[in-house]
Amino acid sequence: MYKINEIFETIQGEASYTGVPSIFLRLQGCPVGCAWCDTKQTWDINPTYRISLDKTVEKKADSQWWAEATPEQILAMFKQRGYLAKHVVITGGEPCMFDLVPVCELLHEAGYSTQIETSGTFEIKVPEQTWVTVSPKINMRGGYDVLASAMQRADEIKHPVAMQKHVEELELLFEQTGVKPKLVYLQPISQKTSATKLAIDTCMKKNWRLSVQVHKYIGIN
Ligand code: SF4
Repeated sequence: MYKINEIFETIQGEASYTGVPSIFLRLQGCPVGCAWCDTKQTWDINPTYRISLDKTVEKKADSQWWAEATPEQILAMFKQRGYLAKHVVITGGEPCMFDLVPVCELLHEAGYSTQIETSGTFEIKVPEQTWVTVSPKINMRGGYDVLASAMQRADEIKHPVAMQKHVEELELLFEQTGVKPKLVYLQPISQKTSATKLAIDTCMKKNWRLSVQVHKYIGIN
């Protein structure tokens, strides 16, 4: 059973899959504690806020209500809602608190591609075909280390930046884990002008890529 905060269809706005119609499956639960987290409603799994899967997909605003569902129930819900996207982004919260193999395998059998977005602080359990986005959360309040195994499994690294120290932390992580990532995206935190300038300048210097959270600029989820 997976704990689900919300399910919705939109356009992926970040990193390599930017622009791809996607179904977002947001799981509940995260102990990592990033100060600037924009999905704090997913942190706690409070039994008081448990609801049915039907109610979860009808949510119109961020909230800490969550539901439990099996992979089969999740797939049935995609069909019931009439979603047309064939790419599924599993995010959170921290989705790797769950074994994601069963849901990803079922989705692949049904013709979907899958992607996960993780902080890299939990072991990644997904099939080989799943696209793995690691957004390494370094030195956050929860005290979790970014795992070398997560960095090695990543198909892309997506790193939020606002200050030079965020770039330096990322470079140190590459050194410590011995990982030479295939794709590195820098993402300015909260669309701040100074963060955007830092990200652009650093991408130009290092031949990394810029990810600007397109959905926030065009006003969609
Ligand atoms: S890992 Fe993600 S969900 Fe968890 S606190 Fe950090 S930004 Fe928020």
